[in-house]
Formats: sequence, C-alpha cells, structure tokens
Amino acid sequence: MARRGAALLALELALAVSVPAQAQPADDLQRDDALVQTIGWRLSHANAAFCTRAAPATGLLLGDVQTFADPAAARAAYGLSGDIAVAAVAAGSPAEAAGLAANAVVAAVEGTPVGPPPARGNWDRVWALQARLEQAAAQRGEVALTLADGRAVTVPAAPSCGVRFILDDAKDNAGATRSQVRIGRRALDQLGRDEAMIAAVLAHELAHAALDHETLLGPGQRPTAAVRRTEREADRLSVWIMANAGYSPEAALRMIRLITPRGLLVIPGASHGKASTRAREMAEEIAVMRTQPDTNWALRFRREP
Ligand SMILES: [Zn+2]
Repeated sequence: MARRGAALLALELALAVSVPAQAQPADDLQRDDALVQTIGWRLSHANAAFCTRAAPATGLLLGDVQTFADPAAARAAYGLSGDIAVAAVAAGSPAEAAGLAANAVVAAVEGTPVGPPPARGNWDRVWALQARLEQAAAQRGEVALTLADGRAVTVPAAPSCGVRFILDDAKDNAGATRSQVRIGRRALDQLGRDEAMIAAVLAHELAHAALDHETLLGPGQRPTAAVRRTEREADRLSVWIMANAGYSPEAALRMIRLITPRGLLVIPGASHGKASTRAREMAEEIAVMRTQPDTNWALRFRREP
C-alpha cells in the first residue's frame, strides 16, 4: 500500500531527499503510523511543561484514503465505509483511553461533516480536519467526533508540545518546522524499528521545533555555521527530551553511531558535524543533565551563543 508523500508547508531543517513511494502491505503502514504517533505523543506529553508553544492534544491522527495512490484499494484493504478514518492512535494517549482505534470511520469533526473528496493525492481535506481537531483540543480542551456508525465520541485533551508528528512514505530522513515533525518511512527501516533510537531522531526534531530554529534561521540560504549551531542545540536538547519521556538518552549515542558510518538518514556532515563530535557532545550533555535530578530544560538547558 503506497501513500503519497505528505507535503510540508514550510521549509525543512534537514536536507530532504525524495525516494519513490514503496508498495507495502496496509498493516505495515498502520503499524508504522502507530509507532510514530506513540513515540511522538510520549515525547510531546512528557515535555509539555517546558515547550514554549505547548497546547493540549489528543494523540489522534486522521487519514484520508484519497491520499493513497489507489483510494479504492486502500478502502478495501482497511475495510472502510468512508474516506476519512482514524489513521493512528498513540498508545497511552487520551484518544486511546476514549476507545478510538485505527480504521474507525469519521463522519464529522466538531459537528462539521468531513466534506467532499479532494483530488486524488491531495492532502488539503485531511490536514484541514486534523487542524480543526487540534484547534478544538487546544482551545476547548476536548474534541467532539461523530463516527460513521453514529457513535458520538468526546476525546479530552492532555498537555503536549503542540507539534504534529507525521510519517512520510516518500522520505528517508527526518525534518522539522515550528509546528511539525516528520520522519520518513525508510528511516524506520534503517533504525530497525528500535523504539529508543527512533525516539532519539524524533527528540532531535522536536528540539528544532521547541527552540523554533525555523524562525531563528529565517528564510532563504542559511549559512552553514548558523545551521551547525542549531544542529548542535537540537542534539544537546534531544537527550533532555528523551530523559523526560522515560527513554534512555544513551540511545541517542547508539543512533548516531549506527547511522553515520553507513550514510543512513542522509545527514549532511558539514552542518550536522562528525559522528564522533556529535556523540561526544551528547555524552557531555547527558553528564550536565545528570548533575541535578531536575530535568527542566526550560531552566537548565544552555543555548548556543
Ligand atoms: Zn537537525
């Protein structure tokens, strides 16, 4: 089952290299969506108290079969009676507690019907619905869904960093804007679907979002030295983000040592630094973090000059 690449609205902080969409069985895609939502939720929820743009969220991601290369086949594979359905529910999230599960067909979000299908491969409808859901969670503290079987489900929201996590079929690396973190499906392959190492990549990207590096760097051509400073900050902050979420921060060192010599995740060395330097800087940061039991990085994290 191939899903087309999700378009990001703003420029990305990592070098993006497109690869052709891979045909995969439907259950593999749902497994990967659930993995990314679960890790993303865990990082985002545990660090909400320190994120500048924190907003309550539900851990629910919607999907639209019209974003698949073959919508009819996707509908049949997932057994859906409509286009818009739950794509993934983060484990441990309010959406899971509310009883929602993948493939629950959604008829309306916040009382507004899901609307007519967009052109094939167009993500506008599902992102608009997702945004409506996220806005309700942030502003009302809960989300009202009407399912196609007539059930009304209210999902209470819980604290989060207010960042959307996206699995992208068409990419093999990861990137972040101020409001989105994206990871390519091939990156999951390359990391062997090791949860802690994936958490290290997502924590690095969440750090870019939390520190608003997009605004800091500005549009257009970015000097390598400035990018390097943001990459160093994202590496250093990632271990705090992981520790707060209960992941071993040492998994970040393991991840760097795995990906760099093999050229995985398409990491540009000039801006991100050598693997040995990155691993050393993160190990030093772990030592700094552990000098006190308090892992409040909003207070204790030292920004790059
Ligand atoms: Zn980065």
